[in-house]
Amino acid sequence: EVYLEAIDHARQSGRGALVLVPEISLTAQTVGRFRSRFGEDVAVLHSRLSAGERYDQWDLIRQGRVHVVVGARSALFAPLANLGLIVIDEEHESSYKQDSAPRYHAREVAEHLAFERGCALVLGSATPSLESLQRCHVGAHGGVRWARVEMPDRPGDAVLPHVQVVDMTRQFAAGRRSIFSEPLTERLKQIVSRHEKAVLLLNRRGFANFLMCRECGCVPECPHCSTALTYHERTHELVCHSCGRRWPIRAWPDPGTRCPNCGSRYLGAYGVGTQRVEDELHTLFASFGCTAQDVQVIRMDADTTRERGAHQRLLERFDDASCAVLLGTQMIAKGLDFPEVTLVGVINADTTLKFPDFRAAERTYDLLEQVAGRAGRGERPGEVIIQSYWSTHPAIAAVASHSRKTFLDTELAARKEAHYPPFTRLSNVIVWGANHAEVKKTAGDIAAAVRVVCAQAGGKRDGADASYWEVLGPAECPRSRIKDRWRRHVLVKCPIDVSPGPLLSRCVKKLALPAGIRVAIDVDAFNLM
Ligand SMILES: [Zn+2]
Ligand SMILES: [Zn+2]
Repeated sequence: EVYLEAIDHARQSGRGALVLVPEISLTAQTVGRFRSRFGEDVAVLHSRLSAGERYDQWDLIRQGRVHVVVGARSALFAPLANLGLIVIDEEHESSYKQDSAPRYHAREVAEHLAFERGCALVLGSATPSLESLQRCHVGAHGGVRWARVEMPDRPGDAVLPHVQVVDMTRQFAAGRRSIFSEPLTERLKQIVSRHEKAVLLLNRRGFANFLMCRECGCVPECPHCSTALTYHERTHELVCHSCGRRWPIRAWPDPGTRCPNCGSRYLGAYGVGTQRVEDELHTLFASFGCTAQDVQVIRMDADTTRERGAHQRLLERFDDASCAVLLGTQMIAKGLDFPEVTLVGVINADTTLKFPDFRAAERTYDLLEQVAGRAGRGERPGEVIIQSYWSTHPAIAAVASHSRKTFLDTELAARKEAHYPPFTRLSNVIVWGANHAEVKKTAGDIAAAVRVVCAQAGGKRDGADASYWEVLGPAECPRSRIKDRWRRHVLVKCPIDVSPGPLLSRCVKKLALPAGIRVAIDVDAFNLM
């Protein structure tokens, strides 16, 4: 509604408005809301349009026959004359960053448009990105003024669910080996006996493998880069994907295994898939004496939603059931609104926390916050149970105490300390090709060339972000091989008021690249995999 009023305001002064929403939320329902307010004055742009449909929409905009454009990130480039307003909804979403050429982040392009065309830019989110928050804190960035406005809570949203964090290392110490902790098991039992509904989130394990101690929750980290080390099973090594350092390691069940923190033998690679959790759920319910008629288990993941419309059908099944558990990956965290859900369980809160990526904590916090918001949206109060091996981590503790500020303060301090965005800009220079030796050599040459220019550009002055330049690597990308192409990368940190693109591309252009070797420069990188 706030957006609609702002758009109205722009139209009344004869100017156009551009509204960006994440591709996934660009549904008929969303578009309908704009159509019912502005009628035929709306053009819609998204990737499911055919070339002809896209052309028609584009033409309407170009001729000035519509003044409101709703679309995914590429709608930014729509030929809207006399732009008065840009809205970016859910601005923290990673889908606003395009990872293939042309590489850009919608927020940065919009900021530049606001500067050039003198229009207003509104970013909306329940969990704003640290980049945006920091700009508001400073008050200016990219030639435009930034300010933060907090919306009052809507009535009905006021009751926050009770959040309980279960320390899984204690469950382990008490001899419990099940995926489900004791508190979660008890609550699931109640769900069945009271004929209620629950949502269970299995945090994506992804391809990145890491070692964790089941007794103390320790995950080995790189002492130089403060990101989690990735475990390479075949070579028995821990690898840092930022700086490229590696260490030999023995993991459970090797008898020589020792946790670097507590000396435990139970330092190993642990992870479960949705299929396994579903099986264990059935076993659990059977142990309560329930049948599949009493409680439905609906699994929602990449496998069960491959077919067109499957996503919607599974949700309808969950809606129709009288007593059911919806089990799924990240995709269940967003936008689901089932008032009857009284329990949200997070099986493993930690997995994304340990991604080799400096935004891991922020992403985990956003995910937990979103999924916790699924509980108790109706009349009955909701409860959230989060299972974690690292229950004291700020990202998890902050969700439990409903204190976003606690998390932001710690996270911002950590980013500042390690010179990561939003205090610097991070560029990712990726080199890939079929010939491993050539990829290695090229990445090394690039790192050397970039180090020289960075030293000239500012040099590393500790503690002063305003002049901070640093080159990390070269290292293997966390996904070191994709489609038979070897991948290495060089990370470059620079001050926030510098545009590193031209400088980096000059470094790359000076090198004679071997045939078959490709290089991409990703400024303000989001995906470090
Ligand atoms: Zn340990
Ligand atoms: Zn490192």
